[in-house]
Amino acid sequence: MPHSSQLPIFSAKDELLKYFSKSPTCVVIGETASGKTTRIPEFLYEAGIGSSGCILCTQPRRVAAITVATFMAGELQTKLGELVGYSVRFEDVTSQHTKIKYATDGIILREAMSDPLLKRYSVIIIDEAHERSLQTDILLGVVKKAQQKRKSFGYSSSMVLKVIVMSATLSVDLFSSYFDEAPILYVHGRLHPVTTYNISEEEAKVEQDYLWRTMVAVVQVHRANPNDGDILVFLTGEEEIESAVRTLREVSKSLQNELNCNGLQAVPLYSALSPEAQMLAFRQKDKRELDKGLRRVVLSTNIAETSVTIPNIKYVVDSGKVKQKCFNPKTGVEYLQVNNESKAQAKQRSGRAGRLGPGECYYLFSKEKFDKEFKETTEAEILKSNLESVVLLMISLGISNVLEFDFIERPPNDSVKAALKLLVELEAICEKTSDGKIGSDIGFQLTKLGKVISKFPLRPEYALTLVFGNEDGCLDDMLSIVSMLSVENLFNRRAAQQAVHSRFNLESEEGEATEAVKCWSKFKHGSGDLIGLLLMFRYVNQNEKKMSLQKVCWENFLNPKSIKQAMLIRAQLAKICLSLGWKLTSSGSGFEKVRLCLYKAFRQRLALLGGEKKYYNSAGHVQVDIHPSSVLHKKLPSAVIYNELVQTTKTYMRGVSIVNEDWIVDVHQ
Ligand code: ADP
Ligand code: MG
Repeated sequence: MPHSSQLPIFSAKDELLKYFSKSPTCVVIGETASGKTTRIPEFLYEAGIGSSGCILCTQPRRVAAITVATFMAGELQTKLGELVGYSVRFEDVTSQHTKIKYATDGIILREAMSDPLLKRYSVIIIDEAHERSLQTDILLGVVKKAQQKRKSFGYSSSMVLKVIVMSATLSVDLFSSYFDEAPILYVHGRLHPVTTYNISEEEAKVEQDYLWRTMVAVVQVHRANPNDGDILVFLTGEEEIESAVRTLREVSKSLQNELNCNGLQAVPLYSALSPEAQMLAFRQKDKRELDKGLRRVVLSTNIAETSVTIPNIKYVVDSGKVKQKCFNPKTGVEYLQVNNESKAQAKQRSGRAGRLGPGECYYLFSKEKFDKEFKETTEAEILKSNLESVVLLMISLGISNVLEFDFIERPPNDSVKAALKLLVELEAICEKTSDGKIGSDIGFQLTKLGKVISKFPLRPEYALTLVFGNEDGCLDDMLSIVSMLSVENLFNRRAAQQAVHSRFNLESEEGEATEAVKCWSKFKHGSGDLIGLLLMFRYVNQNEKKMSLQKVCWENFLNPKSIKQAMLIRAQLAKICLSLGWKLTSSGSGFEKVRLCLYKAFRQRLALLGGEKKYYNSAGHVQVDIHPSSVLHKKLPSAVIYNELVQTTKTYMRGVSIVNEDWIVDVHQ
């Protein structure tokens, strides 16, 4: 491996430092792998810029913060948590000696709640700003305000906050003009070349599922370059990645048997995986794996797109697709959609092949399509989000007039207003009364309830179920439901798939499929899906004590990864509850209390059965249907609450529970 001083950033070092010391804000652009994330904090530290405080480098994702900090602690020969540390949700590895800190945007926003001036930092580097994640966007505004305030308070020059915005794309004018025409500095070149290949227009025309195409490409790369570096594959989401992992495991067997090829080791990487499972992709191969000549194939979402360096990657196979959140403020419907990535993302992804040596990237779309159909940059997440949690977070940060916040790009006013309305209805926020001080802005503030809600890293309604659970003596049950709601894919898809197969009469698998369905029936409850989740949690929890979690899940066709994750989340939430002095009581075998609590928390998501057996949601009077996966599908109760709306061919309610009619009157009185 070439010595790190060969990184392109080293030739720009003096020039960069000159600007960093004289200009309060700088924007840095450089190709991926030029050395920005790792070396700029180091340069600043060595040059004594910001020596009065800590140099912070923010990351949009936790794996990035952890792996970069770990790498840099090694480079600077210090123990992680000493000179170099990191802080991510639920994990803080820093000490009072930490001078270079990598942290997620979310963590810093939470820190800003108690310290809006972010006083402990002398330099704040906002990394991967081009990704325009929701948290990054708010952080930009918060940091800008902290910088202005610290200046206006006339702090001594050593207390001035330096801001560096880093981006891997050229479209940075927005950042520069947002920060008062900050200078834009370029880091030219990259250490290793990456050769890119596209499929031809003819190949692209062949009707083919992109997942299938991706699998074929992986095998081709493997066969064409038998004893070479590993492969990183970009796909869009958990389900698809898990299915690809299964396919590759099968393929690997036949490759080894029939063609005498080395085997493939498929490793998934996506954000819903537990932190330990994510780290498997970053683990160096052990001797046994090396001896066997196993080639690792990391199958990732865009989580591996920025800031991370996965060992030994030489090839990137890019499906060109990305799953994106979309939101319709009129109906309140939020949904995920698979779209083409942006050109900037494609570039980032190919860059992953050239971090440790020369690499190759296979794009599974044609050049023509790329030129014509792919957007230049990724659209800011804030512009397509349900803003409830964002607005609550902003208000809790003391940003009372959200409509007037200095957004780098303003979300639609309708979305902001809808979020404010819902939060007022949930009584999480209230209008601030003018306190008579000149210049004080009138806006919203958190209510007592809102303060409690904002302590939980949860969607406001979920946090509210815990509040009511505490009041009504069924907090323990609510914790179980909320943690199960916080994870996806609770059922073991292999079993589920067998159930599908069985419908096509693949007899050999039929026995097991019926068994799966029978097993799952004990997790069903006539009152709705959420009590079903509670039953599932209780069952697993009780039986886990008798046998291993793995075994309970296996025998009941459940997904151990998701259940384990739900248990972790539950433990973390329980800790917050206990810190508030709450008691974890359970309602036992009766579910009335739990159901009523759920209703009170979800009452903004009520749907009533109208004429022609159709449901209308009470908030927007939109016609909605009960999702086929719900136990209440086709049962037609007169009133229901739902957890979320998803839009496919119709607008479906998911996570549906029956509401007793008398509650509707009672609660609203
Ligand atoms: P940039 O931010 O410009 O994309 P980085 O500073 O992240 O670049 O990385 C520069 C180089 O440092 C990488 O190409 C790689 O060689 C090395 N590097 C960074 N992180 C790691 C890591 N976790 N493990 C091994 N090498 C790393
Ligand atoms: Mg970087």
